[in-house]
Amino acid sequence: MTQPILDVQALHVAYDAIIAVSDVSMSVPKGSIVTILGPNGAGKSSLLNAIMGVVPAGGAIHFAGRALGGESVEARVNDGLSLVPEKRELFYSMSVEDNLRLGRFRLRHQGSAEPMLNEMWALFPRLKERRRQLAGTLSGGERQMLAMARALMGEPRLLMLDEPSLGLAPLIVREILQTASNLRDNGVSILLVEQNARAALRIADYGYVLESGRVMLEGEPDALQADQRIVESYLGVR
Ligand code: ATP
Repeated sequence: MTQPILDVQALHVAYDAIIAVSDVSMSVPKGSIVTILGPNGAGKSSLLNAIMGVVPAGGAIHFAGRALGGESVEARVNDGLSLVPEKRELFYSMSVEDNLRLGRFRLRHQGSAEPMLNEMWALFPRLKERRRQLAGTLSGGERQMLAMARALMGEPRLLMLDEPSLGLAPLIVREILQTASNLRDNGVSILLVEQNARAALRIADYGYVLESGRVMLEGEPDALQADQRIVESYLGVR
């Protein structure tokens, strides 16, 4: 078995008395999509934020074979971790292109942004058409595409997406997740947090279900989709 790009052991996140993540162990094999499913408040965002170093956590995180101790967020970004947060956090008064150029602004990449920009235009033609438009004038789906593309500008080794489908129409959700699937086929490792279980399991290679901060169930998409608890709680009737 190849070494996972990300390995998390016994992760624990607490906000004062609130325990958000408790004893979570999970891993992402290189070049795969792993999805984290679960209801509101299950601890999904806290898990991603802990991996990114945005919130302090107990337990052990290994990224590309190296233990992440007290590294800053910046150091983790330089190592190749990238998080597209739920709120997307774009610079709305800047153009699409300038938002993308900022995604390149890190120590590891002093060279020209042009080759990566061209890759992003090929991957997201809609963004190319809107390259001079202010990010604040984009539709919800286009903003999500821009947030993903900005993260990709830094050539991450692991792309973490926090609910990319949130607030988007089904057709756009399909398009965004299809892009994630294409990225995986091109070798990008992805950790995908979703409430939209059906859509996430369609593209994932493996999934974990979090409930009240703990891993309640894990497995390959087919097994999860066949599990009665998942069907009842997350998939509903077709
Ligand atoms: P959602 O889908 O609603 O974003 P989630 O699965 O991502 O949910 P988290 O946002 O990680 O869950 O929240 C897990 C728990 O931690 C919740 O009980 C939440 O209220 C709490 N929590 C999250 N962030 C903070 C914070 N900054 N301060 C205090 N409590 C927090």
